[in-house]
Formats: sequence, C-alpha cells, structure tokens
Amino acid sequence: MALMLTNTLTRRKEEFKPMEPDHVRIYTCGPTVYDFAHIGNFRAYTFEDILCRYLRFKGYKVTQVMNLTDIDDKTIKGCQEESISLDEYTARYKRAFFEDLDALRIVRADVYPEATAHIDEMVTMIKTLMDKGYAYESGGSIYFRIAKFPEYGRLSHMDLSQLKSGARVASDEYEKDQISDFALWKGWEESDGPVFWETDLGKGRPGWHIECSAMSTKYLGTHFDIHCGGVDNIFPHHENEIAQTVAATGDKFVNYWLHNEYLIVEGRKMSKSYGNFYTLRQILAKGYPAITVRYLLMATHYRQQLNFSLAGLDAAKAAIERLWDFMDSMSSIRDGSPNPEVDNLISQAVSKFEQAMDDDLNISPALAAVFDFVHDINRLTHDGRLSTDDASKVIETMNRFDSVLGVIGKEEVDIDSDIEEMIAKRIEARKNKDFALSDKIRDDLLARGIVLEDTPDGTKWKKKL
Ligand code: AMP
Ligand code: ZN
Repeated sequence: MALMLTNTLTRRKEEFKPMEPDHVRIYTCGPTVYDFAHIGNFRAYTFEDILCRYLRFKGYKVTQVMNLTDIDDKTIKGCQEESISLDEYTARYKRAFFEDLDALRIVRADVYPEATAHIDEMVTMIKTLMDKGYAYESGGSIYFRIAKFPEYGRLSHMDLSQLKSGARVASDEYEKDQISDFALWKGWEESDGPVFWETDLGKGRPGWHIECSAMSTKYLGTHFDIHCGGVDNIFPHHENEIAQTVAATGDKFVNYWLHNEYLIVEGRKMSKSYGNFYTLRQILAKGYPAITVRYLLMATHYRQQLNFSLAGLDAAKAAIERLWDFMDSMSSIRDGSPNPEVDNLISQAVSKFEQAMDDDLNISPALAAVFDFVHDINRLTHDGRLSTDDASKVIETMNRFDSVLGVIGKEEVDIDSDIEEMIAKRIEARKNKDFALSDKIRDDLLARGIVLEDTPDGTKWKKKL
C-alpha cells in the first residue's frame, strides 16, 4: 500500500517515493537549547518520531538527523544573563532534552549535530553564496539577497510583488510582514561578549537559518527525502533554508516538506513568549507519567491543532491502562483450543491500521483499529475461546502496533529481582501469620507502582500507571 503525505510545498497529499528504494533520509529541526523544551516543542518531536517509526514499520531503513541549535540570539542572551560560557549554559538544556526524549520514548535520531561544531561548514556555504552573488556584506554582517532568488516564497505561498528590495533583518526570528534580506553571518557586537568565531568572514557568528542548511546537507547530501518542523518554521526558517541551500548547491534540496500544527492552550499556541507553557518536568510533578503526555501528543492528527488540558492527560491515562490491562490478560491465558477467528481479526486489524497510517498518518482510525481489535479479542477471551498460541499471536500483533505507537509496552522495570525478593519475604511473613509485615510489603510495592495479585498459581505482580 502506498504512503500518502501532505507536502507543504504543493499543499497536496502526495504518494511518498523515497529517492533510494529502501532508505529514507530525513531532517528534523531540533531544539534551541536555551531553556527546557515545552510540551508544544515535543509535539513536533513526537510527530517526527511517529513518522520515522511508521516508515520503519513499512520496511524502510531511516536515517534521521536532528540539529541542536546551541548558538543563536536566545542562547547568547541566556549565557550573558548568567555570566557563564555558552557551552556551560547550553550543556544543561541539551542534557535535559535527551532525558525528556527518553521519557517520551522518542527513538533517538542517528545524529544530533550541534551548530557550534559546524561553523566551518557554515562559513564555506556562506563563501559560496558570496561567490555566486547571492550574499553581500553590510555593516560587518553578511546577508542573503532574496531578490536574486525568484523562487523565494514558494514554500510559504507568499506574494512577493510588494517586496521592497534591499530591506534587511538581522534577528533570527521575524514575521511575514518583515520579509527582507536575512542575516547569514552576524558581525560581532559588544552585546555578544565572548561569543564569537574568528573566520574568513571576520569576527562574528552564524545566523540561525544557515545552521540547518549546512548541517542537513553535510549529513544527508544536497538532495534528500523529507524535512520536518512545526508550522511556525515554514516562514522564515524553512523558506530561508531553501533559498540558501538551493542557491549554494544548485540541487533540489528536499522532496517532501512536512509540518505539524500547534499544541494550543485556550486558543493560543503554547509558547515561551506567551507564558502559557508546561515543560515535561512540570507535568511529571503533577503526577502524570511521561507516557500519558506521549499518548496525548500522538493521538491527534499532526496537521490538526491539539488543545492541551489535564483532562486530556486523564483520558490518555485511561486509554493506556486499557491497553496495559489487555496485555496482562493476554499473558495470563492458559489452555483453551485454537480459535480460527483470531487470524482473521489480526489481519483485519493490521490492514485497517496500515490503511489509516498510509493516509497521511491518520492516527485516529489507526488507534480505533487497535481498540476494536482489543474489544474483539476480549470478547473471545470472556467466552473462554482463546488458546495460549492465539494469545501469543495477539501479543505479537500488539507489539507490531507498538513499534509505531510506543505506548503499549510497559516501561522497563529494572528492579525485577528486588521485587521477587520482596514477594518471597511477603510469602514467608504470611506463613508466619505476620500480616502486618505482609501488608507493609504490599503497600511498599504499591507505592512503586507494583500491584500484587494472589492467584492459585502463586503471587503475581504487574506494573500499573
Ligand atoms: P524552537 O526550539 O522554538 O525552534 O522549536 C522547536 C520545534 O518545536 C519547532 O519545530 C517548532 O515548530 C515546534 N513548536 C514550537 N511551539 C510549538 C507548539 N506550541 N506546538 C507544536 N510545535 C511547536
Ligand atoms: Zn532548522
């Protein structure tokens, strides 16, 4: 079945055809490490994770590159305010970013290039742009001349007829009505303090946009399959990336541009500047496990706005509990004769799931296929019509779905032996009729999210949310 994806460049759903038959190369704009990322940012990274996981589900090898923007207006301001070095300042947020990625079960990209480690590549690209007449110097900084690049505005579908030629913008972020020549290299200013590089372009630092052009082409080549980011990246960031890269390399750059919509709070984009944001840490502190955030972020189609609320997290928690309970019930099935209905239900569920995901990653019907499957299998279980082999096939199918969703498998409990030991102590306590101790052990385990169940086959434990 063909995978269809909505390409921002054409505003149409197009059949996805990778440049190499079995290999997809994808670049995803990463975080600016000037603060903890908020969960709006993680909506972008979760969408990209689902995309990469689904491409792997379809049998492709995926090479994903995600940059870390560790030099820009915001990181410089941050380290100045704390009077520490840029490296020291950004290291804190890089570490936090990877911790949050892991907590959200986002599969790591192949490379996380840091902008500060690629200044040479950026300088080379800017020199090429100057040689070709696309860039010029003004007041110690270097700007991209957009009048020289007639395709400028194609991605954001802008009408450039009113453009005042020669207007310049130095800051990294700006609005559509400020469309102008933008900074590739910024000459050093007093306010930059100790943050600068001495290069062939003079003393200064790169602009934000050139970072992604230099790093994407270094790791993926001058022409690759997919480039992602949030819709706020379309202009100016991705528009500028296209202009710089195509002008410098003469190659096509990117075939499919995919953009996720915002996570919103009370009708407004979740954003640092509006102050209406939550970091993952703040949500964990409210008692919601990270996996509920993952579920909430991935369960709405990436091109629809998603309203954030704690009620949404509660609903996510209930959905995950349903899936986890189902997996527990499948692992405890014993005996029963094989049921020929199971194979049909599996192939129906897989085909519905794949059909939905093939349609521009249409997650709602894909999740519906999973929950319908759970419902149908539960019906067979309640009637006692499921064998151990059937249950294994069901678990295998759920694990296949989970290779995309990342919410069905329970978190690794790295304390197994410890739990078994406590269970043994509790059995001993019960033998000795020391019920106070036996209850205490049960409560201690419960506090760690481990629920004990006394069955005729002995004491079992399971992890709850
Ligand atoms: P930044 O660190 O601001 O460059 O943002 C990192 C990524 O998060 C970019 O792809 C943004 O488009 C995306 N992003 C920022 N805010 C939101 C939001 N409220 N909802 C979804 N994506 C967002
Ligand atoms: Zn970028």
